[in-house]
Amino acid sequence: MSAKSFLHSVRLDKGKCVGCTGCLKRCPTEAIRIRKGRATIIDELCVDCGECIRVCQQHAKIAVTDPLSSINRFKYKIALPAPTLYGQFKKLDDISGISRGLMRMGFNDVFDVSRGADIASRAIMEKLKSPTCPRPLISSACPSVIRLIQVRFPELLDNIVDVRSPMEIAATMARKEFCEKHGVRPEEVGCFFITPCASKATAIRRPLGHEKSSVDGAISIIEIYGLLSSQLRRGQMGLPEKEQDPSHVGTALGIGWARSGGESLAIEEDEALAVDGIENVSKVLEEIENDRLPDLKYFEGLACEGGCVGGPIVFENVYIARNRIRKLVVGLPKERISESVALDEVTGLGEDVFFDRPIEPIAAMKLDDDFSEALKKMDRIEEVRKMLPGLDCGSCGSPTCQALAEDIVRGYAKELDCLLLLKQRVSEMAKQMVEISELTRE
Ligand code: SF4
Ligand code: SF4
Repeated sequence: MSAKSFLHSVRLDKGKCVGCTGCLKRCPTEAIRIRKGRATIIDELCVDCGECIRVCQQHAKIAVTDPLSSINRFKYKIALPAPTLYGQFKKLDDISGISRGLMRMGFNDVFDVSRGADIASRAIMEKLKSPTCPRPLISSACPSVIRLIQVRFPELLDNIVDVRSPMEIAATMARKEFCEKHGVRPEEVGCFFITPCASKATAIRRPLGHEKSSVDGAISIIEIYGLLSSQLRRGQMGLPEKEQDPSHVGTALGIGWARSGGESLAIEEDEALAVDGIENVSKVLEEIENDRLPDLKYFEGLACEGGCVGGPIVFENVYIARNRIRKLVVGLPKERISESVALDEVTGLGEDVFFDRPIEPIAAMKLDDDFSEALKKMDRIEEVRKMLPGLDCGSCGSPTCQALAEDIVRGYAKELDCLLLLKQRVSEMAKQMVEISELTRE
């Protein structure tokens, strides 16, 4: 599928959906409707948060990621494991076991994304020191939170820190270093992120803040979990190993980005606030928008509960994974990149660590291009909303009465989709029929 036509990584398996409305109420951006007995997703509103994947008992909502076989499109393959991957396995004493397992699965090299997180932390610390930077700065790590800001809080777009995500930084560095070391061309090298969420898969196809992603694909943790587990067992049986380059491994602080609060800790900012879960993030963004957090300098918002360890396409329970990561990093270095070394000296990436374009608002569900027509439609929405019962029951297939009123005026729904209005009309009609039959009898 071309990058242009690819809008989202969260999709519906129509054959499995029973139209139960379970997902309707949980969508943070009211992107879901039930029409003709099945769920549909409004593309402009969806932020790929994966809430609907978690709640659907029928497994009708799916995350579209790349199969492991897609790495074979490239002569050389580099795995970029999200730090969350390290929380998925029991008795993992050090992360080199994971790297060796990935190399046995067909990758030529492994570049730990927490190395990218270390670079991103340093770049954010520099931004925070600037007297002209907006307050609070908002983390750019979670693509779902950026999309949420595009859709619902466009006035906060300038607060998003213009530093690329650890995944992007890691991919750019990994490819550059691999090409230099082995004397190969960049187009021969494929970089694949091992992802805990669908949101990152979308961010690869529709990059945020830069034209083209350095990542060539996203393979879900859940897809590789079984194969990687068996590779880890083989490793314990003493089979020959390919070693990972130690310079490709991040610090304890970089790995800590996998859980909520890890980024704030890594950037060493006392006036930072870390919030997880898309609804909670949304509430705090509202507070920021209304200027109710004037002392806040940095906001780390992550769509998944617990942070990336709670992603919708991971294997392990969020709390278990979080605890494993906490234990795993005990023996790892915790030093930040020295402030006396220029960032470019560490990365060799120049401006590629930063955004090269602004993030634009998404004009979701514009009522009309013509301003006076839009005003008329707004009045009509208000009229329709007053007719509706205000119960927000969802049985009409829209998440709230307000959303149904908007859907009716846009022509996507009918007044009688509201079951209470329907019941009212039916009883009025029945009454009229009784009156008519009495009149005709007289
Ligand atoms: S939760 Fe949503 S996607 Fe799943 S069966 Fe119910 S309506 Fe369909
Ligand atoms: S992924 Fe999130 S935003 Fe998109 S439809 Fe599902 S719940 Fe709504």
